[in-house]
Amino acid sequence: MIIDLRSDTVTKPTKGMLDAMMSAKVGDDVFDEDPTVKILEDRLANLFGKPRALFFPSGSMANQTAIKLHTNPGEQVICDKYAHIYNYEAGGVSFNSGVSCNLVDGHRGMFTAKQAKDAINPDAFYYSQTSLIAIENTTNKGGGACWDFNELINIKSLCNNHKLGYHLDGARLWNALEEKRETELDYGKLFNTISVCLSKGLGCPIGSVLIGDDDIMQQSVRLRKVFGGNMRQVGYLAAAGLYALDHHRVRLKDDHSKAKDIGEVLAQHTAIKTVEPIETNIVIFELAEDVDEQQFFEILHNKGIKLIGMGGGKLRIVTHLDYTNQMHDYLLTTLKTLSL
Ligand SMILES: *Cc1c(COP(=O)(O)O)cnc(C)c1O
Repeated sequence: MIIDLRSDTVTKPTKGMLDAMMSAKVGDDVFDEDPTVKILEDRLANLFGKPRALFFPSGSMANQTAIKLHTNPGEQVICDKYAHIYNYEAGGVSFNSGVSCNLVDGHRGMFTAKQAKDAINPDAFYYSQTSLIAIENTTNKGGGACWDFNELINIKSLCNNHKLGYHLDGARLWNALEEKRETELDYGKLFNTISVCLSKGLGCPIGSVLIGDDDIMQQSVRLRKVFGGNMRQVGYLAAAGLYALDHHRVRLKDDHSKAKDIGEVLAQHTAIKTVEPIETNIVIFELAEDVDEQQFFEILHNKGIKLIGMGGGKLRIVTHLDYTNQMHDYLLTTLKTLSL
């Protein structure tokens, strides 16, 4: 038994999902003729109360497209120092859009409206012009933390006052909605553009969607083409997304409660120095000073357990659809009895 907790992207499609994919009606989406893609895009647009949604092969491409839609070369994006768009999209913000990031020194990937305000450049010719605030919910590097919705509203007013775009990297937004009892409509009202991943907690093999307002989304199909993200009979993948929305959303709370269980056991262990607060499906923890990281990985690896290092001495566990109750029992017992 291999227990892979490196990411919630390691899941394989379930039988039900594969059946849904196999029976999808498809067409050439580049000719705008794939009926299943249209259903998925319409469904997500409606969920968020937005006029437009566009299917993408990856969350990175959806984010990169959004940033390009919001900015001109030489301008600046405000985001947290932990942001995925800054850390894990291969420098795409500068490569694709020619913009720089003004990094906010936030807490667990989140910042305040006051911090965002201070990061807006004054309107002088020698400054880079601030054009976008991008936030991430839940935060990945921040350990699956969820934003306080009131702070998001405050940042929205800031965007309005300074005529800035407001983008949400919602790769794990559904985890936040589950935990905070919020809705897609709440988020649709605040943000100009929202990217969501079907390939994370929802367990699809691939797929992200960018949702947004009509004006800002005008060039989205063209930009997706520029980035090479146009796809043909991709309704097979959109069908996986539709299936996941129907069947896999409701179970995200299981991932969250399992993550909390793991956090509690880790916090008890003498080999662990700290466990960050657990809100959703991500557990980030640090080893005690005298514990060798490589050795820790090796011992768990020999017991069939895989996790990942986040740099700076932080380790990460992510629970997901393919992490069963049986695996959970085994993991908790193994961790409890782990001697180093
Ligand atoms: C996974 C992820 C993405 C998108 O990643 P892809 O692998 O390109 O689909 C974007 N933002 C965050 C916060 C993520 O965790």
